[in-house]
Amino acid sequence: NNFLHFLMADKMPEFTVDIDAIKGFLDPQEGWALYDRCLAAGELGPTLEIGSYCGKSTVYLGEACRISGRSLFAVDHHRGSEEHQPGEFYHDPELFDSASGLVDTFRLFRQTLRAAGLEQVVVPIVAATQVAARDWSTPLGMVFIDGGHSFDAAQADYDCWAPHVRVGGILAIHDIFPNPNDGGQAPYSIWQQAIASGLFEDLGIVRTLGVLRRKDG
Ligand code: MG
Repeated sequence: NNFLHFLMADKMPEFTVDIDAIKGFLDPQEGWALYDRCLAAGELGPTLEIGSYCGKSTVYLGEACRISGRSLFAVDHHRGSEEHQPGEFYHDPELFDSASGLVDTFRLFRQTLRAAGLEQVVVPIVAATQVAARDWSTPLGMVFIDGGHSFDAAQADYDCWAPHVRVGGILAIHDIFPNPNDGGQAPYSIWQQAIASGLFEDLGIVRTLGVLRRKDG
């Protein structure tokens, strides 16, 4: 089994929340892979994720950071990506704030953090990726990109955060579809760029989660 071969940790944690009940688009195997790599990356530095939504991936990564004593920075403007807007395919009426007339995933995100006991681990950054990155200088053990799926959004996430991954650290990208019939191509495009840069080693793809390691030089 490729998945088990991929994992480094011999034991997975038990969550205080029902992880499958948290809204989101992360497969459990992808979640375990994130947890596993994040746990190891804790030796190098904190982890940063882009695109927290309601906090499903945040719980996997946050649990690993809790164990390693690191912070998890969770970047999301919490207004939903293009596909979450009213009228779009992934719109969820429960996440629509009628007072502001905008999608608001922050309320559920905070609820998830509290239920998961991760408020002392996760640092929510409620901002667009470029705003969060503008004055960023902390080297990161791991970056997980799962933000907007337009080419512009994915490119901005890659340009903003890939340079902060420490040598030996992990760059993980969600929603990799090498076949265009299976899904949008923006995440796959930045995954290809990372490999073409010569700076990242391909550690494999778990379902749609691409995992890369920053090389020396
Ligand atoms: Mg995703």
